[in-house]
Amino acid sequence: MQRLLLLLVCVGLCVGLKCKQCEEEGKKSTVTGGQYGIKTLLGCNTYYDEDGKFVADKCNTCTYTYQCSNGHSWSESEDCY
Ligand SMILES: [Zn+2]
Repeated sequence: MQRLLLLLVCVGLCVGLKCKQCEEEGKKSTVTGGQYGIKTLLGCNTYYDEDGKFVADKCNTCTYTYQCSNGHSWSESEDCY
């Protein structure tokens, strides 16, 4: 779970996050997020490859829900562990 939170923080910090609807309307807003749900809950395959590198298959789908200060909300899905 900690890993998912870190991932979420990274998504916001690394890519930047703006409300698409506000952008279209030329408005400014702040975005809050952090609510995530795992659509699937599979035991993902993890192993060490020939070079000793840790490999984890992202076999689950996570959905993140965001809200902006103008009341819009949306969600994004991505592969996760
Ligand atoms: Zn918005």
